[in-house]
Amino acid sequence: MSEQDCLFCKILEGVIPADIVYESDTAVAFRDVNPQAPTHVLVIPRKHIPTINALRAEDEQIVGSLYLAAQEIAQQEGIAEYGYRAVMNCNAGAGQTVFHLHLHVLGGRALSWPPG
Ligand code: 5GP
Ligand code: ZN
Repeated sequence: MSEQDCLFCKILEGVIPADIVYESDTAVAFRDVNPQAPTHVLVIPRKHIPTINALRAEDEQIVGSLYLAAQEIAQQEGIAEYGYRAVMNCNAGAGQTVFHLHLHVLGGRALSWPPG
């Protein structure tokens, strides 16, 4: 999938609406349209990076900023103390369906391990 027809780039451009809960210079977060937990937020970089496999050394700070965003969102959502999951799927075999890097922030219920 190219940047031109990337769903999450369209959300960043405002072409597709989303319930945005956090914004910084490098990251944006919005609620997942099909939530798997009471809190299910997707944190994405403003830069189009398709997968973890496509990361470069220069993206190190961007990835760090996704986790700092997750920390702030967890506080906002009131799930930080109980616990939450921040997870990134890489490629189809792991369940990735949108090829623009995104961190799932899931919480608000007990989460089992290992995931399916
Ligand atoms: P993946 O399966 O790639 O790890 O996660 C993609 C996530 O994006 C899924 O949880 C899916 O529900 C969510 N998603 C797909 N399309 C949209 C959309 O148009 N808006 C929002 N907010 N989430 C979406
Ligand atoms: Zn994109």
